[in-house]
Amino acid sequence: MPQVKVAVVGAGVIGFSSAVCIAESLPNAAVTIIAEKFSPDTTSDGAAGIFFAAEFHEIPVERQRRWFKDSFNHLLQIAHSAQAPHAGVMLSSGCQIFKQEPAVKRPFWADLVIGFREMSPSELQRFPEHGFGQVFTTLKCECSRYLPWLQHRFIKAGGVVEQRHVSSLNELCGFDLIVNCSGLGSKALADDSAVFPVRGQVLKVSAPWIQHFIRDSDGKTYIYPGIESVTVGGTRQEHDWRLDIDEQDTTGILERCKKLEPSLENAVVLSKWVGLRPSRKCPRVERGVMKTKGKNIPVVHNYGHGGWGVTLAWGCAVDTLGLVTQSLRDIRPVAKL
Ligand code: FAD
Repeated sequence: MPQVKVAVVGAGVIGFSSAVCIAESLPNAAVTIIAEKFSPDTTSDGAAGIFFAAEFHEIPVERQRRWFKDSFNHLLQIAHSAQAPHAGVMLSSGCQIFKQEPAVKRPFWADLVIGFREMSPSELQRFPEHGFGQVFTTLKCECSRYLPWLQHRFIKAGGVVEQRHVSSLNELCGFDLIVNCSGLGSKALADDSAVFPVRGQVLKVSAPWIQHFIRDSDGKTYIYPGIESVTVGGTRQEHDWRLDIDEQDTTGILERCKKLEPSLENAVVLSKWVGLRPSRKCPRVERGVMKTKGKNIPVVHNYGHGGWGVTLAWGCAVDTLGLVTQSLRDIRPVAKL
């Protein structure tokens, strides 16, 4: 049986999750990841990697619940295994706080994380400017460890890795199917003007006494303890392409975070980082087709996850695998995948 040649463009958390899913599930597919940047140089590498999600209003909530649930359950198994520190996955407990009571008090994922409940008035006393809060245990996935771990898993499943810039998907016409996981690169590669950056700056600090996360619901101020350091953030600057550190942002981040957690006064700043969230009104996880040199090559798109790509990566990869399988059946109806 001849192999089907599949190219996955992108080596961030979306590309590697998709590539691993395909390579491990379709033994007859020869999968190559092609990307300009690999770990530690992708956006995914610097993400705090906490499992949260905002609701995308253009996507049925049941589909978003499935993405969240598939991701959460997959990584929870890893968190409960001896692989956890190698994969950079850990459980993380803490709270999300709101200045005023939100219209939706239970997000769509409330029953998918562990022990979700509202904060009591005495718990809220710690945050005098906030009037409502939620406590729960979720996951944190540090991609600086997770991506190399996924790459190892991908190569073990027979995958091939190639580092290069792709100027146009037409360059990949030697493949039977293309999976586009190029994040912000999709603005050019998929000719999608709806894709835009949301700049995020974060600091890593040494503060080992901080064990619980705190997130302000505006998404701009958060404290996430991790395996080796605490990530404090952040910024959400739409359409801002700057990748350099802005020291005004640094000052603002530290001031805002110290208001929530005064003990950060004693923390040592270890590093500063900026990343551009590959944003869109909603993620694009769907089939398309590329017409080139008289051929129709199926393309499965998986990009535009904004600030929630780590959270949704495995669930969207499972959907992508389904779309790849359908597309391959269409081009090779009798092929045994
Ligand atoms: P990327 O990681 O950017 O990967 C894109 C890949 O495509 C790269 O390999 C790149 O080289 C390749 N590529 C692009 N164009 C081309 C081309 N033309 N040719 C070849 N290769 C190309 N998410 C969460 O779920 N939880 C969080 O707590 C969280 N915190 C965040 C904090 C910050 C400050 C930031 C910036 C983001 C955060 N995110 C978080 C969001 C998360 O980082 C992204 O959603 C996720 O990394 C997107 O993954 P990706 O694989 O699509 O993109």
